[in-house]
Amino acid sequence: MIRSRHSSAVTLAATILAAVILTAVLGPNPLHAQGTVQLDPAVQELVAEVSEENLEHLVHTLAGFETRHTLSSVDDPDRGIGAAREWMVDELSGYSPRLEVSLDCYDVVAQGRIAEDVELCNVKAVLPGHSDRRIYVSGHYDSVAQLLEGMAEEYERFNNPAPGANDDASGTAVAMELARVLSQSGLEFDATLVFIGFAGEEQGLFGARLHAHRAYEEGTRIDAVFNNDIVGNIRGGDGRRDGTSVRVFAPGPEDSPARQLARYVHRFGSAYMPHHEIRLVAREDRFGRGGDHTPFNYWGFAAVRFTEPMEDYSRQHTVYDTADGVHAPYLARNARVNMAGVATLALAPSAPDVDTQGGNPRLSRGDTGYDAHLQWDTSPGATSYRIFVRGGWSMDWEQVVEVGDVTEFTFPGLSIDEHFFGVAAVGPDGHESLVSPYVRGPRSVSEVETR
Ligand SMILES: [Zn+2]
Repeated sequence: MIRSRHSSAVTLAATILAAVILTAVLGPNPLHAQGTVQLDPAVQELVAEVSEENLEHLVHTLAGFETRHTLSSVDDPDRGIGAAREWMVDELSGYSPRLEVSLDCYDVVAQGRIAEDVELCNVKAVLPGHSDRRIYVSGHYDSVAQLLEGMAEEYERFNNPAPGANDDASGTAVAMELARVLSQSGLEFDATLVFIGFAGEEQGLFGARLHAHRAYEEGTRIDAVFNNDIVGNIRGGDGRRDGTSVRVFAPGPEDSPARQLARYVHRFGSAYMPHHEIRLVAREDRFGRGGDHTPFNYWGFAAVRFTEPMEDYSRQHTVYDTADGVHAPYLARNARVNMAGVATLALAPSAPDVDTQGGNPRLSRGDTGYDAHLQWDTSPGATSYRIFVRGGWSMDWEQVVEVGDVTEFTFPGLSIDEHFFGVAAVGPDGHESLVSPYVRGPRSVSEVETR
């Protein structure tokens, strides 16, 4: 059966019709995208190892610093962002000697919501892998709060009590708990894993912006950013409840790095957590809101945002964002969805390169002029490849075809105008890479003008 997230019967019918046509064209036994996930017992164990109790402890401790405002005290041993980040460094360092824990600091001059010059520090823990390609799990550990209910936002008021339990100790706890489980697992990963708590998010994504820009300047390869922000509350301000789904926001266009990552999260998160609905949203973020994934997308990295579906706006950015508003079993489910995606991606080979030097994807009409012919580079460590296909007006991959250990493949008579294609590398234990899409980048103005 084909799965569709679209509620419209018309869309569903169109999707099924497209699948029927594709099935006829592709051959008698194509595999559906949802049907090919091979569960790995090692990943199942990692998913199960995520602990509600630990997550609860992390959220309580972070909220216990009273405020983690970016401009709050760095000297007070019990209160403020300095005490919080020192505790995070100690906590992460205690998880495993394999974790390299450090502060990632930047001098920021007063501007916008930053009322005075500040040394802003992200907290970073790196679990080195066999390769330099990096996978990030992030939250922002800074907080902000208005002093009294009904007052305007006070981003510069750094002494207000701002427990920030759900926004965003919850996301920070997800990053820290994944750091614990993955670093203690004894598994060797192909990718280098980075667990990071950003600062300055509430003043305008400063910590993530500075970090992402530096990564781009230094040529760091970041394959994926799993950003968690507001992921622990199940009761909306309007009283509605939802503890069994999570939203994943990913900006377009359709084959952007973020969209490939979102599809990957859906594919593997759903496989390992079938009782948790992963609701992909084809937009950068919630309406009028922002988050730390955005600067990474800006610099060309794949980054998505996880957020609960039922937000309580009456608690966000107030003194009422306390730990009792975070539902540990729900937070654990979201952490497990993260784990399924992060672990699978970190164990998989890197995605195949499908571009020529000139930036054109290696997709052609083949020898006959009427086929779909795909070529790609070998990925180190890959033992086979999977081709993904979807119709010309579809949001998600509809077919996946196992093609073995080859670097080219032809679908006879399949139109490359009316279908989209991608290819993923698969390792010896069945771990699948991100999908590399066959999409040409946008033409430059000069190219268009000279046509
Ligand atoms: Zn937030």
